[in-house]
Amino acid sequence: MTKISQKLNFKVAVSIAFVALLVSLVSSTFSYYAGLNERKTTNYQLAEQLGRSMEKTAAIAAYLGDRELGQEIVNGLLSNDLVEGVNLFGEPNMFITQGNIDGQGEQISLVLSHPFIQDNQIGTLNLFPNEEFIQQQAQKATKKEVFLMLLHSVIIAFFVSIFVHRRLTRPIQNLTESFATINPSEPITMRMLKIKHGPQDEIGKLVQGINSLMHELHLTISNERELREKTQELERKFRLIFEQASAGICLLDENNMITTHNPAFEQHFTPVGEDKLPSLNFPVLLNDTEKMQKLLSEIRAEDKFDQITLDIECTIGTQTKWLHCLFAKLSDQRSAHRDDTGTIIEVILHDITERTQREFQTRFEADHDTLTHLMNRRAGEKKLHKALFECMKNGRHLLLMMIDLDKFKPVNDTYGHEAGDLVLVEIARRIKIHFEMSSDICIRWGGDEFVVARQLDEFDVTSTAELAEQLLDSIQQPIHISEYERCQVGASIGIVAAPKDGKVLHELMVNADNTMYQVKDKGRGDVAFYDRKTKKT
Ligand code: GH3
Ligand code: MG
Repeated sequence: MTKISQKLNFKVAVSIAFVALLVSLVSSTFSYYAGLNERKTTNYQLAEQLGRSMEKTAAIAAYLGDRELGQEIVNGLLSNDLVEGVNLFGEPNMFITQGNIDGQGEQISLVLSHPFIQDNQIGTLNLFPNEEFIQQQAQKATKKEVFLMLLHSVIIAFFVSIFVHRRLTRPIQNLTESFATINPSEPITMRMLKIKHGPQDEIGKLVQGINSLMHELHLTISNERELREKTQELERKFRLIFEQASAGICLLDENNMITTHNPAFEQHFTPVGEDKLPSLNFPVLLNDTEKMQKLLSEIRAEDKFDQITLDIECTIGTQTKWLHCLFAKLSDQRSAHRDDTGTIIEVILHDITERTQREFQTRFEADHDTLTHLMNRRAGEKKLHKALFECMKNGRHLLLMMIDLDKFKPVNDTYGHEAGDLVLVEIARRIKIHFEMSSDICIRWGGDEFVVARQLDEFDVTSTAELAEQLLDSIQQPIHISEYERCQVGASIGIVAAPKDGKVLHELMVNADNTMYQVKDKGRGDVAFYDRKTKKT
């Protein structure tokens, strides 16, 4: 609530009263002193007129030397309150003094002339005005005047205050109170202001002006509010999409630093047990930092594509993940003419680890034998074709061994099919020991038949024979098929090498197979190199 002393009508009333009082005081002081002097002068003039009215009679009394008449004149003059002392001199021996002649008043001297001879002075009549009386009279009259003046001022100030209150302060107060009910954040409160008196004066025009301004403001605020609500709704939806998206989203600045990212992105790259990203430099988060840096600079430099997708393998903590990433250049219209180095890149990524693993698994299952996990014949053949092609192209050699287990069928017959399976798995494991899985090729060709191949710069019979012997020895070692039972199988190995024993796969395989069968024919459990001279046709 506004304090009374701060209210406009109070301030205006006090101001008017103060001005009225000040003006009244100044003017009444001035008028007091001016009126006082004036009245004193008037009274002096009256005293002088009184003296003059007796002047002739006093001249006669002086001429006749009539003391009695003189005394009467003096008494008559003294009977007036304006005079407090009289002094009458006449030639040759009239001298009358009566009353107080030592007062403060200014003496009035009248020269008494000879009744018949002009300009012949025969005496003097001196009047001593009653200064105190004159002063009192003057003060009394002046005070009355000043009091009336003050009364006028107060009355005028009162009516002026009422007028100002009705015409100025009250409308302004009404206006202020109406304004106080307006809350710009609630457009409904922006009602038109009403004012009681005519619209012609300045306040009326001011109200009209404010009303039209308020109308405009109301429209603008309503539109702006509607727009803001729509924008907020949109922003809320986008934020929800951004924050709750399962896809990780981030923005990279020109230095590949992550400027913005959503919770899913952080989740993808934060190792288990940690609570924040290991780095804000995006390429650093990935296994091959350099490759990613190169790719991002290519995306920035290349005008051809605005976006590119890529499946990336990365290790987060101890976990290996596969992420399907989409890199998109965010081209801002305003920055169209800017340097490419300033381009922002948006990265959207999905965790495809499960899918990729399933794909790997499916591919693995499609390409590998379910029992031994060695490559199956179909995939193996493809690999062999490829390897042979590379060897022929690069002037290298392809060593190929065809391995068939000896007397494997009896294992099945004796110990059962499952035991036979165990033997096949163990043989595959032993074969793998002698070969490099990343560069060599190990295939379960079918049944108890295996094919192994290796690319060589130089083909050397001795080392190859050594390898084949070791392999054979390894296969021939006893195999535990149960806690108490062991069995043993042998193998016949036929060895060929491209290009000397064949330049196409079919030829090589036929020669290897024949060589292996030759070993079988010769009693099994041996290795043999293909010999062109002894080949079967
Ligand atoms: P050989 O010495 O002449 O090679 O004779 P073998 O007993 O080894 O018999 P052969 O190579 O002619 O036939 C392979 C046998 O392997 C036939 C089949 O019963 C058996 N076999 C094929 N695939 C599997 C399999 O997946 N599991 C088991 N347990 N046995 C299989
Ligand atoms: Mg066999």
